[in-house]
Amino acid sequence: MQCQLSAHDKGEHFGLLTDAGAYGTALWLRWHGTNETELAVLPDCPVAAPGPGGEGCCLFADHTTQHTWEDALEEVSCTS
Ligand SMILES: [Zn+2]
Ligand SMILES: [Zn+2]
Repeated sequence: MQCQLSAHDKGEHFGLLTDAGAYGTALWLRWHGTNETELAVLPDCPVAAPGPGGEGCCLFADHTTQHTWEDALEEVSCTS
């Protein structure tokens, strides 16, 4: 499981397990360090990129790092 957040060196890590649950939520695996993991159902991040047809964010509401569409260094796909 790989952390979906942009590079960060503190705080918890989050890996997306599935977004096949209830609409507007996704199941995430949350961990801090190497041996404490926890399942969490989190609402999707509601912030989309500005402008018409703005790309949605792949993360969850109130995440700590930048939105996935702000990550200009690499192409981000929610499905990868
Ligand atoms: Zn992380
Ligand atoms: Zn976001």
